[in-house]
Amino acid sequence: MRTQEELRAQLRQIDHKGYKAYKVLEGEYDFGSYRLCIDHVQGDPFSTPSRVRIVYGNRKNISPEYFDSDHRRTAIEDYLLRRLHRSLRMCDDGGRRGSGKSGLVTACRTGQEILERTSMRIAPEQIEARIEVGFPAFGRTIAAGELGQILFGLLPEVADKTFRMQRSMQRELEETVSLADDQQFIREALEKMGLVAFVADGSVLPRENGVSQRPMKQAVPFRSPDSLAVTLKLPHRGNVRGMGVRKGITVIAGGGFHGKSTLLKALERGVYNHIAGDGRELVITDSTAFKLRAEEGRCIHETDISMFISNLPTGADTTRFSTENASGSTSQAANTVEALSCGSTVLLIDEDTSATNFMVRDGRMAQLVSDEKEPITPFIRKIRSLYCDLGVSTVLVAGSSGDYLSVADTVLQMDCYEAKDVTERARELSVPLAEGKARRTVWIKKPVRRKDVEKSRTHGWDTLTLDKSEIDLRYLEQIVDESQTAALAYILQYILGKMADGKKTAAELAQEAYRKQQKDGILSMTPRNYGAGPAAAVRVQEILAALVRYRML
Ligand code: ADP
Ligand code: MG
Repeated sequence: MRTQEELRAQLRQIDHKGYKAYKVLEGEYDFGSYRLCIDHVQGDPFSTPSRVRIVYGNRKNISPEYFDSDHRRTAIEDYLLRRLHRSLRMCDDGGRRGSGKSGLVTACRTGQEILERTSMRIAPEQIEARIEVGFPAFGRTIAAGELGQILFGLLPEVADKTFRMQRSMQRELEETVSLADDQQFIREALEKMGLVAFVADGSVLPRENGVSQRPMKQAVPFRSPDSLAVTLKLPHRGNVRGMGVRKGITVIAGGGFHGKSTLLKALERGVYNHIAGDGRELVITDSTAFKLRAEEGRCIHETDISMFISNLPTGADTTRFSTENASGSTSQAANTVEALSCGSTVLLIDEDTSATNFMVRDGRMAQLVSDEKEPITPFIRKIRSLYCDLGVSTVLVAGSSGDYLSVADTVLQMDCYEAKDVTERARELSVPLAEGKARRTVWIKKPVRRKDVEKSRTHGWDTLTLDKSEIDLRYLEQIVDESQTAALAYILQYILGKMADGKKTAAELAQEAYRKQQKDGILSMTPRNYGAGPAAAVRVQEILAALVRYRML
């Protein structure tokens, strides 16, 4: 490890030289209370910023019981990262200038969800924060003095503000751990109580607006109908009443604009924990729950969608179905099969974003066009068997089609944002329906071949490119953060380059990569230069979904 003086001397030496000379700075430096690691220096002022780590020995700073379990550790890391952001905002006047990304100092952005991230890691012996620093230049000439200000002025101040234990920090740490414990308690209680989700009374479900995930001000708080209410005794908050969404089939009915989609969206995001003040911090959904929707135009690779689609007029084999341009219904069928193949036991569907012909076919149409002439077996014919034979529950928003009332175990009505249990009334109205059998012989049969991907990039959270091929993630509504997109870029690159052997299928590879992420961390699959930016943990569902949307598979 080198000293601060050596770093200063080196900076003086390379001042005014060509940008490439910055490379000599890569290495570790002793800054007294922490170690500064310059892991990767960018190639030029315009490329993605350099990667720097601040590493503290963690002797007595944060007591080990705060991170002795995964959910606590993730929550504490998330808290420290947000604290780092605050310190950066307070200390950085942004006064430096130069070309390209000169002088930019950033840490991974965070949203409302608490995710495991590469940007902040805490272990018994150390805490490490990863920061991106645009090494300053004028044109392509090194501005060493400016970098000196960052490394010797800004970063030490930011590090101190973030990590020095103060009384207020101790209190916030305690609150963070308490919430994490309560959330974990609910998550574990779901299975024991036969629930797929819990929505606490008082939760604020709607968001501020279409582009912000912050809670809506003056929203009508959620309240469970008595018949569905359960009370959980949380380790810190004590008794909390809320709605238990039971296993089986739940239909959310109600007039337009009464809050149906808002409830479903909250359930979609409930696979993740939320920060205090979000309004959804006690909305917890089975972690495997997958939002199913239509996605016209997606590609499908040798997937068995015969459960829903057969007898195509083209004679195409739907047990091994491939297309570059799926229709609404075939895309939704493929999405269903893929979710089942990576172990989802809860499906979330909104009629707003579904293909009508995938969802239902009414009696009159069945009389006009006989079953043999219709390639699609609608979801409604499989929904009961999915639950009874495979244990897969569905929560479905259906404001317009009454057919689903006949198959529902529970019918909720959203009425002016108030949830009502109307199961009894719905039962009186229902008519029996023909049903088909669901199968779990659902496989994605395409073996994936090895392929070296040189470059991966992300554009916001909804697109990633591997070499020159774009993968469209817009319709994966449970990717909630651009760092998850970055993780997917790394994981796909890793799968294609290191795991694919021409025998394993996409579903098997997704499982394998997910297990690796859980065991060794995302960093084990992240390239040294973090080309696509900081990463956050993803679920197996999203890994598979991204992989099968790769057109060059
Ligand atoms: P639906 O799917 O039933 O048509 P939405 O869930 O899209 O209705 O909600 C319609 C509007 O009402 C949205 O703008 C949403 O933000 C707002 N909204 C939803 N829930 C609440 C609530 N609890 N309090 C206030 N406004 C809400
Ligand atoms: Mg809606």
